[in-house]
Amino acid sequence: MSDTEPTILNPSASPNQLVDSFGRAHTYLRISVTDRCNLRCTYCMPHEGMKWKKRDQLLTYEEITRLAHIFTAMGINKIRLTGGEPMVRSELTTLVKALGQIPNLKTLAMTTNATLLAEHAQTLKDLGLNALNISLDTFSKERFQAITRLDQFDQVINGIHTAIACGFASLKLNMVVMAGVNDDEIMAFADFAATHKINVRFIEYMPFKDNSWASDKVVTYKDMLEQIERRYELKRIEGDRSAVAKDYAITGGGSVSFITSMSESFCSTCNRLRLTADGSIKSCLFYAAEINLRDAMREGASDKDLKEMILFSLAQKPEAHPPAEEIAAGENRAMIEIGG
Ligand code: SAM
Ligand code: SF4
Repeated sequence: MSDTEPTILNPSASPNQLVDSFGRAHTYLRISVTDRCNLRCTYCMPHEGMKWKKRDQLLTYEEITRLAHIFTAMGINKIRLTGGEPMVRSELTTLVKALGQIPNLKTLAMTTNATLLAEHAQTLKDLGLNALNISLDTFSKERFQAITRLDQFDQVINGIHTAIACGFASLKLNMVVMAGVNDDEIMAFADFAATHKINVRFIEYMPFKDNSWASDKVVTYKDMLEQIERRYELKRIEGDRSAVAKDYAITGGGSVSFITSMSESFCSTCNRLRLTADGSIKSCLFYAAEINLRDAMREGASDKDLKEMILFSLAQKPEAHPPAEEIAAGENRAMIEIGG
């Protein structure tokens, strides 16, 4: 399966208004629905923990839906729900249902840790969620607990198998690869992709606020590829130019992909915008500047005002993110507050 998700929900061909100063047309919006999580992954959540935002600081589902309509009218055709853990927010199905009815949306996706997935996977699919990314970094129960600081391995595995059985049009497994932590499981994940005929995405470890990142913990995509090619014949899939992953089909079925943010950045084709759970637009994952739409909405901003704020944020988007060491030393939200 390639990184290009299927077109299911009412496509339309309105001109894209979200073209930035470097000619990049933005079609993909990641919406964080909560900063909370029921896991505490060492590479994502700062060691000292988080002070969760209060409920009234978060965008309501009505506010998210309003913004989603505005963004899609401007050129967004893919929305991914993320978090924190999106499924810990109550009544998430209400939001999925509302977003599933937006006319210009081709892909409605979610990234989840799968702890709560088994019970809701089929309903989410029925409501229009057509792409699911599930995060799993190890097949060892003990190691899972060490990485996530919680004992939820069995629930996650159950969630993954339930989602596979539901037959999502796009189903991917995300593994953050960390040297000395789980890099000895790269082959096990490639085997899982081949056995279950799904896509496994190997993600290079990225630096965020207090997340134990160090340059020598990054395993580069070239090293991973070399390892996997010792067992599997891989064929490069040339997909969507703006896809962040380098995709390879495994002869015999399944595929593997690499998110090479550290060793080979893909800023020149970036097509993503981010909306945080408290309503700020982030034009770049590694750029701290934000514009808050929530406060404007609550002060009575019109759709036209909000569009102008979105365009202003896009105009500030940098051409490329700084080198990893600079990102590690700089200011930004923690990953758990951004959502990937
Ligand atoms: N809780 C959900 C989950 O884990 O799938 C969604 C939010 S999580 C922040 C989104 C994605 O970011 C996950 O696939 C996670 O593995 C990835 N991620 C988190 N911290 C990362 C880091 N430091 N480097 C690379 N990927 C990271
Ligand atoms: Fe939670 Fe996902 Fe971050 Fe892990 S990666 S702490 S599951 S938000």
